[in-house]
Amino acid sequence: MSKNLKRNLISYLILFALIVGVLYLIQGGSQNVNMEYTEVEFSKDMEKGNVKSVHIQQNAEVPTGTVELTMKNKSIIRFYVTDVNDFQDLYNRLVEDNNLKVNFEMTDVVRPSLLEKMLPYLVGLVVLIVVVMLFAGMQSANSGGGTMVNFGKSRAKMTSEGDNKITFNEVAGLQEEKEDLEEVVDFLKNPSKYVELGARIPKGILLVGPPGTGKTLLAKAVAGEAHVPFFTISGSDFVEMFVGVGASRVRDLFADAKRNAPCIVFIDEIDAVARRRGSGLGGGHDEREQTLNQMLVEMDGFSVNEGIIVMAATNRVDILDPAILRPGRFDRKISVGKPDVKGREDILKIHTKNKPLSEDINLKEIARTTAGFAGADLENLMNESAINAAKDSRKYIIKEDVDKAFIKVGIGTERKSRVVPESERRITAYHESGHAILFHLLEGVGPVYTVSIIPTGQGAAGYTMPLPENDNVFNTKGKILQDIKVSLGGRIAEEMIMDDITTGASQDIKQATAAARAMVVKYGMSEELGLINYETDNEEETFVGRDIGHQRMLGEQTAAAIDKEVKRIIDECYAQARAILEANVSVLHKCAERLLEKERIDREEFESLFESSNLPPLSI
Ligand code: ADP
Ligand code: MG
Ligand code: ZN
Repeated sequence: MSKNLKRNLISYLILFALIVGVLYLIQGGSQNVNMEYTEVEFSKDMEKGNVKSVHIQQNAEVPTGTVELTMKNKSIIRFYVTDVNDFQDLYNRLVEDNNLKVNFEMTDVVRPSLLEKMLPYLVGLVVLIVVVMLFAGMQSANSGGGTMVNFGKSRAKMTSEGDNKITFNEVAGLQEEKEDLEEVVDFLKNPSKYVELGARIPKGILLVGPPGTGKTLLAKAVAGEAHVPFFTISGSDFVEMFVGVGASRVRDLFADAKRNAPCIVFIDEIDAVARRRGSGLGGGHDEREQTLNQMLVEMDGFSVNEGIIVMAATNRVDILDPAILRPGRFDRKISVGKPDVKGREDILKIHTKNKPLSEDINLKEIARTTAGFAGADLENLMNESAINAAKDSRKYIIKEDVDKAFIKVGIGTERKSRVVPESERRITAYHESGHAILFHLLEGVGPVYTVSIIPTGQGAAGYTMPLPENDNVFNTKGKILQDIKVSLGGRIAEEMIMDDITTGASQDIKQATAAARAMVVKYGMSEELGLINYETDNEEETFVGRDIGHQRMLGEQTAAAIDKEVKRIIDECYAQARAILEANVSVLHKCAERLLEKERIDREEFESLFESSNLPPLSI
């Protein structure tokens, strides 16, 4: 096909598509449905009394239907409901609870004529053809009508001050995170105050945490608190099949933001674009990379005090391209973790605010039994409970509703937020206490910053986080030995307290063994085997593309001697670690109890456990 012919064809097709599109709009335009509007928004609008009339169009053959709302301000909203009966229940409840006067009407869906039925398919077909042609055109020489349609328009959604009413009050449990963001809010409210002092406010803030923990909510709340517009776009929106589209979307988004400064630009799921460059299979120059480059260019392009704060969210900080974490880009990182018991109770309080609860419901108790639930899971739990109550035509939620919902939500989100049985929590509490006590008492490691038995997104049942005192370049033999003892501490604590041991320590054992082995084969720290490197190649990670065949073999006797030496080191560390924990068994019990009660304890509280037990710190 010659270029000219192709261009002509494309023009005709687009013309055709336009005509059909206009026809479709005239005919079916009144059926525009707002996909963003859900029953939740509906409930809110009803409670606020914004709704004047409700018109359900139900389809007799399926449970779904369309609802047309006429609002008090005369605007009309149409949205889909998945179950007309459920929706009616919800409606009735809302009307009764809020004493509303709303016109109600229910009709069957109008059967569309044949033409109406066919139109969407026709339009779809034509658009598909155009798109395929355009794509082919762009691929060859980047010409051929690509400019006729602006695919690069940013898809960002802008929320202006008026319609964003989320504030920090709606975000529960994330106290420190909110405090961190307080200064950003203040800057957005009053940039000149900071500019005059020459203060540098972070340009980019990265929110890191497992899904459903409130990252999006937090970003919206910052905009809401500061009364500034909020631009949001998801990383996955950028990843389009057209080369160059993502980059032009980014350009567009930032141009919009600059016109509306001060404002917040929020990039959700940033890992979709900002993955380490060149790591994709097939690698090299691709769409995502261009998008990422454009984003970095934009972020470097506006000055710090222009009043644009870029926020981004991800649950995988480890796969991000290091370039985006450089100063002047996302130089502030805020971890948004799963909530502890107290946090969960506060979140439950927020999400039951306008749900009537019966007296047998104790939010504290629900909070206690939902370790590992993120905010979104808790919101879901209470929503399901409300649905259960509505199904029973009750006007309030009883404990049984919550129990039922718990099973549904618990199973539905099993992989994400496992429900942790009490026995397992107990084992984890002792296990982590074992690590923590050794961290604290051994010289050269620690102090302990946090101990927690809140399951992490990565599948660990809990964690003990040390605070490195100094960042030494060299590891000493003593320090490696201490690290091994700390690693073994979890299992030792389990052994001391429980009748049985668990598989939960496998990672610790692996780590301890690897460290002991490195001492022997890599660092020459074993007198028995001397200053010889016995490393075989496969001890390091094998990368694709490296020649895998190249491996050094060890003699059988040497291999056996290494194994024996590794075992000796581990055994000695084990004995010393066990002695320390046995001497501190009262602290171990206290620490585990405290963890079971609060799920997370900080440095100060942890260290206070030692004071009351008047034992001098050991140094072995
Ligand atoms: P993320 O962006 O981290 O995946 P979201 O901010 O989208 O999580 O949270 C989803 C929903 O869960 C929120 O809309 C809110 O209803 C609820 N939620 C999550 N965390 C909290 C919290 N800390 N306080 C109150 N509600 C929360
Ligand atoms: Mg989100
Ligand atoms: Zn452990």
